Amino acid sequence: MAIIITDDCINCDACISECPNNAIYEPDEEWAFADGTKMSDNTKHEPLSDEFYYIIADKCTECKGFHDEPQCAAVCPVDCCVPDEANVEDEATLLAKKAKLHAE
Ligand code: SF4
Ligand code: SF4
Repeated sequence: MAIIITDDCINCDACISECPNNAIYEPDEEWAFADGTKMSDNTKHEPLSDEFYYIIADKCTECKGFHDEPQCAAVCPVDCCVPDEANVEDEATLLAKKAKLHAE
């Protein structure tokens, strides 16, 4: 499943550079599939939050294919990167998502 950032986030910026899929965005920052991936879709989308860092579920692979554990959760000082129960996916689905994001 994807990871979600809760409203316990203190906007410390520690997680953003750890994400291999560029799935994490700053508050009020527009997002696009092309950001940090090999996808060509550079359509800018509205921010999901204007208060806290946020994760795009369609770009989050739980770090599958890159790391053994979600890197955002590993570095977050307040443990606010948690499994998103609304976006439950099995490993095969997460790896397929990773392949789609980073296909040559
Ligand atoms: S779990 Fe990994 S892929 Fe998902 S947002 Fe966190 S760092 Fe990015
Ligand atoms: S590491 Fe945690 S507290 Fe810091 S910006 Fe990311 S989610 Fe928020």
